[in-house]
Amino acid sequence: MRKAYKKPAVMRRTSRLFCNDVNVGKAVVVRDFLHQCHDVAQYFVDLFWQRQDFSADLADLATVHRGCERFGITTRLAQALAKQAKEICRTAHVNGHRKPRLRHWTTTLYSHFMRLEPFAGPHFDYVLCLIGSGAPRLTLPLHSTQHLNGLLQEGWALGKTVRLGWRTGRLCVEVILEKPRPAPKTVGDVVGMDSNYKHGLVFSDGQTTGDTAYETIQCFAKRQKHTHAHIKSLVGHALKQVDWGNVRVLCIEDLKRVKQFLRGTFPRRLNRRLSHWSYNFLAQRLACACEERGIRLERKHPAYTSQYCRLCGKWDRRNRRGDQFVCRACGHTDHADVNAAHNLAFLGLAGVYGLRSLPKPIRCSEEQSIG
Ligand SMILES: [Zn+2]
Repeated sequence: MRKAYKKPAVMRRTSRLFCNDVNVGKAVVVRDFLHQCHDVAQYFVDLFWQRQDFSADLADLATVHRGCERFGITTRLAQALAKQAKEICRTAHVNGHRKPRLRHWTTTLYSHFMRLEPFAGPHFDYVLCLIGSGAPRLTLPLHSTQHLNGLLQEGWALGKTVRLGWRTGRLCVEVILEKPRPAPKTVGDVVGMDSNYKHGLVFSDGQTTGDTAYETIQCFAKRQKHTHAHIKSLVGHALKQVDWGNVRVLCIEDLKRVKQFLRGTFPRRLNRRLSHWSYNFLAQRLACACEERGIRLERKHPAYTSQYCRLCGKWDRRNRRGDQFVCRACGHTDHADVNAAHNLAFLGLAGVYGLRSLPKPIRCSEEQSIG
């Protein structure tokens, strides 16, 4: 049996800063260092995977020394990279993936290797000092970003480690920010939320936001570079307007089911527009927003949530006509998304995953209409 996952006491966010003003000589040194770290980490990954070593403890010294000798690096660096490789192997093993191949040249630097300090001077905001012990000895000046400043204002504190990476030909520093996790909320309601690209986010407590996204998406001619960035900003904007005060548990559609559920039921043009609406990104942002407020996020099976009548509990495929929900049994009329949101909230209250897993007496109407 798998052990129950215990949530860590701090929440983490990352913020990416690009070093655009580093001179070429320094950039080359750091790039070569990252390339080497990548090779060493992959070597350790291969080694641990071959040994089927997925334990949580530190790598043994013999293995670390093997890495040192082979690549000519310091013990401290080898130890840090072996630790990273072990974490990578463990995650892949737990998720049932194959042996990981490291694609990015990204390395986590602990406090032995670097210091992140405010820049003493007017031109930059931070300075990342690499202080040796395996890493090159140099300083990288950094400009802060709106994103980082916003997080710092919200009470996030800079963590002790950073991730240094080489992306799209530029050097980037991922700063890790930490904040204590708030206690889970005890007051408030179970609220369902249905999201789609047309009406934005529809909550069962009556809130709706992000419904202007539809017009914007309609203007997109084809998959363009900026469209995804645009959608992300729309999602972020929509989430900012939500009032979380009365929410204790939020029930949303299980992402894994959304795509399989939609495939083939819409014309191609609509499918293309759907592809612009980023469920994955929305769910990530929602998870963050809920985490920061101590709200529990529950994922529910979306099947039939748009066809069930929330008043009389009867199910009929014909209940839904486009945006409108009209119950054929009791005549209840509602907006289709509002009805779905209420059904998701109902699943949350009932404590079940999907409408299919409800006990028989509530489901009997469904069987009747099928038979
Ligand atoms: Zn009804």
